[in-house]
Amino acid sequence: MKYIIHYDIAAIILTAIILIHYYHKKTIKQPQSHVFTKLMWLSLFTDVLDIVTVAVDEYRLPSLAVNLVNVVYLILFNTAPFLYYMYLLTLEKRRELWTRKDKLILYVPVSCAVALIATSPLTKLIFYYNPADGYCHGKGFFLLYIAAVAYMAGTVGITYIYRAQMTIWQRSSVYMYLLASAVGILTQVFFPNVLMLQFAISMSLLVLYMSLENPDEDEDQILGVYNRRGFEKVVSAAIEEDERFYLLVVTARNFQIVRETAGVSFCQMMMKQAMDHLKVNVKPSLLFSISEGRFAVMVDGSREAEEVTEILQQEFDRPIVSHGMNIQINISILQIGYPEDVASIEDVMDSIDYAAVFQTEGTDDRVLHGSGELLNKMRYENRIQQAMQQALDNGTFQVYYQPIYSTEEKRYNSAEALIRLIDEELGFVSPDVFIPMAEKNGMILKIGEFVFRTVCEMMARERIWEKGIDYIEVNLSIVQCMQEDICEMLYGIMDEYDIPYSCINLEVTETVIARDILWNIMERMTVGGVTFSLDDYGTGYSNLMNVLKYPFHIVKLDKSVVWYAMENERAMCALRYTVAMMQDLNKHIVAEGVETREQSDILEELGCHYLQGYHFSKPVPEQEFLRKLT
Ligand code: C2E
Ligand code: MG
Ligand code: MG
Repeated sequence: MKYIIHYDIAAIILTAIILIHYYHKKTIKQPQSHVFTKLMWLSLFTDVLDIVTVAVDEYRLPSLAVNLVNVVYLILFNTAPFLYYMYLLTLEKRRELWTRKDKLILYVPVSCAVALIATSPLTKLIFYYNPADGYCHGKGFFLLYIAAVAYMAGTVGITYIYRAQMTIWQRSSVYMYLLASAVGILTQVFFPNVLMLQFAISMSLLVLYMSLENPDEDEDQILGVYNRRGFEKVVSAAIEEDERFYLLVVTARNFQIVRETAGVSFCQMMMKQAMDHLKVNVKPSLLFSISEGRFAVMVDGSREAEEVTEILQQEFDRPIVSHGMNIQINISILQIGYPEDVASIEDVMDSIDYAAVFQTEGTDDRVLHGSGELLNKMRYENRIQQAMQQALDNGTFQVYYQPIYSTEEKRYNSAEALIRLIDEELGFVSPDVFIPMAEKNGMILKIGEFVFRTVCEMMARERIWEKGIDYIEVNLSIVQCMQEDICEMLYGIMDEYDIPYSCINLEVTETVIARDILWNIMERMTVGGVTFSLDDYGTGYSNLMNVLKYPFHIVKLDKSVVWYAMENERAMCALRYTVAMMQDLNKHIVAEGVETREQSDILEELGCHYLQGYHFSKPVPEQEFLRKLT
C-alpha cells in the first residue's frame, strides 16, 4: 500500500510550533498544564512514529523492528484519548474527589489496550507482520478503538455533567477534539493509506491551546507581567501544592485623581517604571498586575515580605515628575500570608477586593494586614447584606417605637420609629451597623420606604393622635434625600393611609445639609405640615448656622453630648447655654440617651422640652408601645 504521509509532516510542524511557543512563554505550573504538556509531547512522538511505521514497512525491515515500532506507535496512539480525558478531569478539579476504585477503573481500558497491542506480535489479534505481505491488520483490529471510544464517551459524559461549570470555550474545544478524532478515524477506515488522523488531532490540540492553555491570556501585555487571571492561577497552584507564601498587594490610593490629572499614559508609564524597578529585586514571574492602579508581589516568607514592603515604600516615597508636574502616588500595601491568613484562592481574592475599600478611602495606615480577622469582618458584612435582603424579601424587618416624654405635659407625646433587624442566625443586628451598609448599597431606599409605610399604616389603624401622640419621628437617610421623587413618595404613602401630615416629623442629620439638598425637600414638605428635626446635634460638624438657616422644629441633642455633660463641668456649662439659646431661637429640644432619674431631673431643669431614653423606655415593638399609651 502506498501511504500518504504529508498530513503527518504537517502535524509534526504544527505540534512543534505549539510546543516552542508554549515553552518560550512563561507558563504557570498547574495540574492541568502537566497533563497538557504530556499530551503535546505524546502527540509529537506519535506523529513521528506514524511516519516511522510507514518507513519500516516500506523498507521491509526485520520483523522484530517492525513489530516494535508498531507496538510503540499503537500504544502511544491509544494513550492520547486517555490523557485528554485526564486533562478534562484535572481541569474540572474533580480528580481529588475520585476514590481509588474510580481511579483504577479509569486505567482499565488503556491497560487492556496496551496488553492486547503488546501481545499482538504473538497473538496476531491486532496486527501482524510478515515480510511477504508487510504490515496487516489482525482480526481483532477493531478492539484497538474500544479504549479510545470509551475515553471519548467519558469525555462527553464529563463535559455534560460539568457543562454549567465549563466556559463556552472549554466546551467548544472538547467538541472540536471529538469531531476531529471522529473525522480522522473515519478517514482512516475508508482511506487506510491517507494518514490524516494525527493531523486532525494536532488541529484540535491547537484549539485547546489557544482557548485554554494560551499563556498570553495570563499576561499583561503592556507591563510584561502576569495579569489577574495569571495571578489567580499562580496563587491557586501554590495553595494546591501547599507552599508557604506572602502576597503584598499594592494599591495606588489616589490612582483615580492621578489618572484624571496626569492621564492614562502617565499612569501606565508609572506602573511600568515601578515594575521594572521591582524586577531587580523580585522575580518577574512573581509580579502581577491585578487591576488599574493595583499590583501584587509574591514572596516566600515574612522576612522577604518586610524587605519588599520597605523597597515599595521607598519606590513611591518621592514624587514622579511628568510634564513639569510633580506627582505623588500614595500607596497602601496589603500583606496576606498563606496559610496563616487565608486558606483558599477565594479567600485571597475576597481579601483583596474587601481591602480595596480600606485601601482607597479608609484608614491612613500604609500597611494593612490581611489577617483572618479582616476576612471574618468581610464575611460578617456579607452575611448582614444577605440578612437585609432576606428581611426585605420576606418582610421581616420590624419597626420599634421609642416613646418620647414631654416635660411640660408630663406624658409621652411622641415617639421615634427605629428599624430592627433580627436575623435567625445573627440575632439582633444594630442599625448602627447595617444602616451605613444599606446606604452604600442602596437598600436604604427600600428600608426607608418600608419604615415610613409601617409607621403610617400603624398611625391610621390606631388613630394614634387620639391616644395623645402628636407625631412620630422617622429617620430620613441622606441617600433617601438624594432621590428626586422623595417628596412624592412620602406624600403618596401619607395620602394612601389618609393621615394628617402634621403627624409626621422627619429626622435628618447634618450630612444632609452639607450636601445642600435639604432646602427643596423642607420647602415642599413643610407646606403640608410635616415638621423636621435636626438629629445628632452636638456631634460631627455641628454648625449653628444650620439651626439658624433651616426651619427645624426640633433639635435633638445627641446622647454623647448629654452623657458628657453629666460628667464634665465645662460640658454641662455648654449644654446649659445651648438649651437656653435654642429656647430663645424658638426651637424645641429633645435630649436623647436619658438613662437615669438624675439625668432626667437635670435635663428637665435645664429646660429641655422632651426627653428620650432608656429611663423612660427602650425602643419597643408596636403592641408594647401602644400599651404604654393607655
Ligand atoms: P438615632 O436616630 O440617633 O436614634 C437614637 C438611637 O439612640 C437609637 O439607637 C436608640 O435606641 C438609642 N437610644 C435611645 N435612648 C437611649 C439610651 O438611653 N441609651 C442608649 N444607650 N441608647 C439610646 P438605634 O435604634 O440602635 O439606632 C441607631 C441609629 O440608626 C439611629 O440613631 C439612626 O441614625 C439609625 N436608624 C435607626 N432606624 C432607622 C431608620 O428607620 N432609618 C434610618 N435612615 N436610620 C435609622
Ligand atoms: Mg433619630
Ligand atoms: Mg439621634
